[in-house]
Amino acid sequence: MGVKEVDVHMTVGNGATSYANNSAHQKIGISKAKYVLDESLKEMFADDGFPDCFKMVDLGCSSGPNTLSVVAQIIGTILRVRRLNNVDELPEMEVFLNDLEGNDFNNLFKLLPSFYKKLKEATGNEAIRCFVSGLPGSFYGRLFPSKTLNFVYSSFSLQWLSKIPEGLEDNKENIHMAMASPPGIFEAYATQYRRDFTTFLTSRGQEMVRGGRMVLTFVGRSVEDPSTRDDCAHFTLLASSLIEMVNEGLVKESDLHSFNMPIYTPSKQEVEGVIHNEGSFNLEKFEPFLVPWDAHVKHEDHTRGRISQLGAEGSVPDHIRGKLVSDFIRAYTEPVLASHFGSSIIDNLYGRYAKKLAEYLAREQPSFFNIIICLSKK
Ligand code: SAH
Repeated sequence: MGVKEVDVHMTVGNGATSYANNSAHQKIGISKAKYVLDESLKEMFADDGFPDCFKMVDLGCSSGPNTLSVVAQIIGTILRVRRLNNVDELPEMEVFLNDLEGNDFNNLFKLLPSFYKKLKEATGNEAIRCFVSGLPGSFYGRLFPSKTLNFVYSSFSLQWLSKIPEGLEDNKENIHMAMASPPGIFEAYATQYRRDFTTFLTSRGQEMVRGGRMVLTFVGRSVEDPSTRDDCAHFTLLASSLIEMVNEGLVKESDLHSFNMPIYTPSKQEVEGVIHNEGSFNLEKFEPFLVPWDAHVKHEDHTRGRISQLGAEGSVPDHIRGKLVSDFIRAYTEPVLASHFGSSIIDNLYGRYAKKLAEYLAREQPSFFNIIICLSKK
């Protein structure tokens, strides 16, 4: 795959493999980040009061139940702040749902009537005037006029780079910045990350009003030196499924050698460094948190019958955990893999992957290392 911009949209529609049906894992991360979101909004309103029209955007909103639940949560916080401070007026709200052009906006828009209905039922006389629109385009660039945004939210999107870094030719059988990657690979990825995150901050810095807040949750790295620990072992297992298929003649070796995920998981020091050097924002909060790979398994209420095969103590058998972890990783990796390797290998690949995940989960208790930050516009 070349270094062109990649369309990393999630699996569209409402089918069994869609993001809409496989985003329960991210939902757990979003709820862990809830208190940072609440606190940041409260601080912003305490400092500056309500604007007449509160303009916000969810960057990389995707298409599914998580998208509008965050907007509902923000409305809940506004109502609580209003009651606590005995404020008469409610702001109007303009909400932009942003994602890449390939995102399933149609599916998202179909959720809007029931969202508006529930909002009205829940808030009654206090119903807030909320205007939701879709905004296709990359967040690595300008999306809004200058000084118009009060609040920016994004969850689990910023680990996606704008493109595959240059200089990954030696990464051969690795598909990400793996522990086993040759040294030059780390720098190639890190350079692309610094460039992208700087562009992101500069764009938002121009679009946001002074004092506006930005709450960002993304997957990070727990160690400064990526060769000392593989926080993305799930990609190492996906690579080993591809290697198996190369050995069986099902995937071309050259296709594997030229494939790399456009994903970067930064360390605390890197995040702080870019924010400091770019200069438009103060870093108000930095909170790391762990979410086990299979955290969504117990929470899944749409496991399509698979949990009915519970083990002795009500535990979920490894092969089901493997399949459910594979499903959620498939929902966000399938479009990128299918566009490189072709869609004919996909079912076979994720079938193998589910088995490898099951074996891994039987002996390890892996977690994703996530980071939530709150920034205020200088
Ligand atoms: N926020 C949702 C979805 C996360 S999935 C949740 O927490 O569940 C990540 C989303 O980021 C995908 O929908 C992907 O298309 C989007 N994305 C990745 N790079 C992007 C970019 N440069 N600009 C806009 N959206 C992007």
